[in-house]
Amino acid sequence: MTEFVVPTTARSGPIIERDVVVIGAGISGLMAARRLVQAGHTVAVLEARDRVGGRTWSQNIDGEFFEIGGQWISSDQDALKDLLTELGKSTFPRYRSGNSVYIGHDGERREFTGDFPVPDATLQQVNQLVHTLDALAAEIDPAAPWEHPHAAELDSISFATWLASNSDDEEARRIVGHYIAAGMFTKQSHSFSVLQAMLMVASAGKFEHLIDEGILLDERVVGGMQSVSEQIADELGPNVVHLSAPVRQVSWSDAGEGMPSAVTAVSDRVTVRARFAVLAIPPNLYNTINYQPPLPRIQQVSHQHQSMGLVIKAQAVYETPFWRENGLSGTGFASHERICEVYDNTVADHPHGTLVGFVAGAKAEETWALPEDERQAVILESFAAYFGKEAKRPLAVYLSDWGTEEFTRGAYGASWSLGGLSRWGHLQNRPVGPIFFASSDIQGVGYMHVDGGVRIGTDTAGRIDAALLAPSNS
Ligand SMILES: Cc1cc2nc3c(=O)[nH]c(=O)nc-3n(C[C@H](O)[C@H](O)[C@H](O)COP(=O)(O)OP(=O)(O)OC[C@H]3O[C@@H](n4cnc5c(N)ncnc54)[C@H](O)[C@@H]3O)c2cc1C
Repeated sequence: MTEFVVPTTARSGPIIERDVVVIGAGISGLMAARRLVQAGHTVAVLEARDRVGGRTWSQNIDGEFFEIGGQWISSDQDALKDLLTELGKSTFPRYRSGNSVYIGHDGERREFTGDFPVPDATLQQVNQLVHTLDALAAEIDPAAPWEHPHAAELDSISFATWLASNSDDEEARRIVGHYIAAGMFTKQSHSFSVLQAMLMVASAGKFEHLIDEGILLDERVVGGMQSVSEQIADELGPNVVHLSAPVRQVSWSDAGEGMPSAVTAVSDRVTVRARFAVLAIPPNLYNTINYQPPLPRIQQVSHQHQSMGLVIKAQAVYETPFWRENGLSGTGFASHERICEVYDNTVADHPHGTLVGFVAGAKAEETWALPEDERQAVILESFAAYFGKEAKRPLAVYLSDWGTEEFTRGAYGASWSLGGLSRWGHLQNRPVGPIFFASSDIQGVGYMHVDGGVRIGTDTAGRIDAALLAPSNS
């Protein structure tokens, strides 16, 4: 092994040497670590929190089991499904028998199966918008949307403007806009571009995959999605995974082509010297770490254009899943309600029934601004708009608050400001010297989902494995 030392201005805890240091023990970082260890390399994972799993997190609160972050698997998310098989994990399906509820722009509540219960003309406009968006999405590679010949132009048009110029039916625009804006980016549709909307669709395959009852939100992991990360961390062991170790400084050197690379990560508990680093934190947090020397200017600028959306995942547990007795699936949509989408989130074989609803974007901000008891009351009022007064009598309620989590700072994921994806997207997966980047939020297929984290973790491990085997690093 060639001697290497990176000058650091900080030191903390014992100094250990590994082939690779992984910063962040969410699914992206843990997957990278798992594959690198399997390939025979030495790895240290430094995790800021006192737990692994990042944006997947389960807790027992008031005697009820809640998944606070990412939980669902869509039926087409093969990388995640393969991992679950590899780990021997079981899944259970989402309850979805019976009618769904739609509360229209006019405030009228309708029960339905199949197509949304809107006038034929609106439905035609919805289909037309979906068809046009699918056709656009088919023009990009989700791993490189910036390569579209009109990427800059498509990235300068907000999704709201695109919807308005493609349909004059307000309800149709709300329905299609809802799935991408509130449902995925958790931002207002005027704040991200049609190129990013295309990426969201392309990363899932087709728009239909973002709405189809048979594909979307298909299953959950028995024991919760966080248990996937916990099992990977347990198998790696405490000599690899270091908890409560927020990384404050990364010192790196880029000796150039053919020369050994080196990086030192200083956390509150341990300092790791390695050949390569995987920065497996969401892009909005890149600038919370001090880099020595600073990252190149374009990275420093571009990282300021990736920001988290905001959503409240609201869950209410009831004595029984009472909506099922009324022939309802627990699924509901209302783009103007506080809770804009709702699902049956009952844990398999549990007598209590759980509803989960989402409050996105500006409505999430308004809701957090309310006093706590008022906040809970308006949330339950919104569940009641779908399922009646019984929804106001829960056994337990939990509102996920990712916006106050220092090591996440929003939900579900980080996305680009208008124009950012076409201008800087090509840099997001390009290593800087020995530093590689891995997050579900900079991945093509599986973008902003656990499946994307599995993919980018695996892919990053493969790239580093190849680099470690290169003559300059052996
Ligand atoms: C409320 C919510 C619901 C969601 N629902 C779904 C869903 O149903 N299905 C789905 O597929 N996806 C869902 N997602 C998205 C999914 O959870 C994420 O895409 C995925 O978990 C991201 O994994 P990651 O490893 O890339 O990032 P993260 O999970 O964010 O992991 C990053 C890790 O880095 C750590 N970290 C940060 N800074 C530092 C530092 N300085 N030093 C050391 N460590 C640091 C963090 O503590 C964290 O553990 C949801 C997300 C949220 C928040």
